[in-house]
Amino acid sequence: MADNKSVVGGDHPNLTFRRYKDNDSDHGRWIEDVVSSGLSYICPTYVHKTPPCQGSCPSGHDIRGWLTIARGMDKPADGSPWQEYAFKRMTMSNPFPSVMGRVCPAPCEDGCNRNEVEDPIGINSVEQFVGDWALEHKLSLLEAGKSTGKKVAIIGGGVAGMSAAYFLRLKGHDCTIFEEYAELGGMAVFGIPGYRTPREVLEGEISRIIDLGVEVKLNTRVGKDVKVEQLEKDYDAILWAIGATTGRNLPIPGADAPNCVDGMSYLRAFNEGRLKYLSGRILVVGAGDTAMDVVAVARRIGHIEHHHEKDRPENVILGFTVHDVASVAKRQGGDVWIVYRRLVTDAPATKHELDAVLHEGVEFHDGLAPIEVIKDEDGQAKALRVQPVKWTDGKMENDGDEFDIECSLIVAATGQTGNYEGIEDFDNGWGLIDSDKLYCVKDKPGHFVAGDAVKPHLLTTAIGQASVAVDSIDSYLDEEEIPKRPKVDSHHFNLLDELRSRHLEPEEFKQDEHYDDWGTDSSNYAVHNFDDRANAEIIPHEELFLGYFEYDPMHRRTESLVGADEILNNFDERFRCLNEEQTIEEAGRCMSCGMCFECDNCLIYCPEDAIYKVKDSEHAIGRYVATDYDKCVGCHICAEVCPSGYIKMGMGG
Ligand SMILES: Cc1cc2nc3c(=O)[nH]c(=O)nc-3n(C[C@H](O)[C@H](O)[C@H](O)COP(=O)(O)OP(=O)(O)OC[C@H]3O[C@@H](n4cnc5c(N)ncnc54)[C@H](O)[C@@H]3O)c2cc1C
Ligand code: SF4
Ligand code: SF4
Repeated sequence: MADNKSVVGGDHPNLTFRRYKDNDSDHGRWIEDVVSSGLSYICPTYVHKTPPCQGSCPSGHDIRGWLTIARGMDKPADGSPWQEYAFKRMTMSNPFPSVMGRVCPAPCEDGCNRNEVEDPIGINSVEQFVGDWALEHKLSLLEAGKSTGKKVAIIGGGVAGMSAAYFLRLKGHDCTIFEEYAELGGMAVFGIPGYRTPREVLEGEISRIIDLGVEVKLNTRVGKDVKVEQLEKDYDAILWAIGATTGRNLPIPGADAPNCVDGMSYLRAFNEGRLKYLSGRILVVGAGDTAMDVVAVARRIGHIEHHHEKDRPENVILGFTVHDVASVAKRQGGDVWIVYRRLVTDAPATKHELDAVLHEGVEFHDGLAPIEVIKDEDGQAKALRVQPVKWTDGKMENDGDEFDIECSLIVAATGQTGNYEGIEDFDNGWGLIDSDKLYCVKDKPGHFVAGDAVKPHLLTTAIGQASVAVDSIDSYLDEEEIPKRPKVDSHHFNLLDELRSRHLEPEEFKQDEHYDDWGTDSSNYAVHNFDDRANAEIIPHEELFLGYFEYDPMHRRTESLVGADEILNNFDERFRCLNEEQTIEEAGRCMSCGMCFECDNCLIYCPEDAIYKVKDSEHAIGRYVATDYDKCVGCHICAEVCPSGYIKMGMGG
């Protein structure tokens, strides 16, 4: 095997994996060194572990599973199109693939082992392709379960509430969503701008959930229109999915000026179609993802030089008036600044979004700590006073004289909190709800919580928490103790389910017949030689044979980056979805960490021909090869050359 040095690393300087050091030229006497000296009584076993992509996805997607489907290795038993089969696999853990594929910042890709070769797998590109295909072909979600007669109240119709409704319906529980506003979607609709998540995509994915038989009460605020005590009487359990929808204003003197607003109100006014332009210089304080959306919107809607007093942007943002469409024609490019205390390199925003807004003409001013809002004689903010600062060992120090930045509107994008009016009992003092790891509300039996109300994060996090909370609710409704969660808590591949779907499940174990069996290798009431460690272990890249994978960069979605001169009025989606061929090729880059992907390496390299392919009629994912233990000499070559780390020397010992 030392001979394949030439292919390892190849001609590609970008390929990070190297099995040998530069200028290594000698190889050992491999027959003796590798085969003979490796002889042992330990034989290969097939070990399933969780891939790190899945371990890093907060909704616990079986990513490797749906990539295996997309690349054509796992074919649907019923002959349905691969996209439908992949959609079913995706929606076991997340009913919003089209939205995720667009706006999830994809922590899964950061975790992907392929980063150790060249680029991660474009996981959310594949997710978007399948999600869009499902919408286009009007696919329904998995079917609702058999009715249990239990009823759950869900407070909040954002992504957490709707995902919970979906998972509850799969388990056969009835549920009602109570939503304060006239529309479902929460921050996915009122926070994230429509050009990032097109409304027809959101509506399509929402309506599929509602079609499963979810009752929805819009314009109903719990704590005002309906009391918690009433819900406790009418429902068997309550899930709080109320998000953290209120923005925080700046904690500095003068921030009570009417034209000093918070980012959440600003984005809601834009997304509801009320706010159509700004005026003068806009200062946005903060550099997280909300700040990026605020400035990106500001550059797109531009500003109007002379407008009527009543049309001042803050009057619209605060809900006193609405801009009329006619004025839109007068818009010009806006003067939009980000003011940030730390350095641009420390900005918490997704790097991609930050680069995009800079390209669109937003000015970034870092190292400036806001200290006061300066008002004019009418009480309006006319400038932001800032203190230049520098950072040494994480400590902020003044670095020069304070100065004023003139502006017409200040938008604080520095955090969000919940609105607990009428439900004060649930506020933990930080505008959030205290819960345990099983998403049970502290000291309130029968109450559960999920999503931003626990701690603001991402859509996928809200969905993952909703799934866990529904499992807890399910146990609670069954009057069982709520079980602890596994160490690696995901929607894992299950070999038994895979075998069942192909009618290959083991026979029933019969106590009377099989109790005294010695050795079970020829019996068919067990899944042989398979060790499922997915609940406990994530497979690191060190366990893979990375030298197998050749340089093959990611297929990136094309992105229309719009420059500063063209951004006004541009509400086009930035990313173009991969086409089917690109999607399949991208899925084909997956290294299938922790699971066999049928590369034949073990068959080719075994010096004793001890490994054989299982019959086609017995083939399933994870059951492609088997070992003849009469022939195996325990040399461990198969485990060495297994690219995906699925083979471990474990049997015998
Ligand atoms: C500007 C912005 C941009 C973002 N961008 C991204 C992104 O690109 N990618 C990403 O993954 N995440 C992003 N996020 C985060 C993501 O939107 C949230 O994590 C997610 O929406 C949280 O879902 P949720 O259901 O917990 O809460 P929400 O979406 O906030 O939904 C809560 C719902 O509860 C309702 N409600 C509240 N109180 C009551 C009550 N008492 N009675 C009845 N109804 C009530 C609210 O009206 C709301 O509809 C962004 C967030 C913001 C603010
Ligand atoms: S939801 Fe996000 S983290 Fe999970 S697979 Fe999709 S892109 Fe990755
Ligand atoms: S190579 Fe495939 S299985 Fe491995 S971490 Fe990346 S996406 Fe997941």
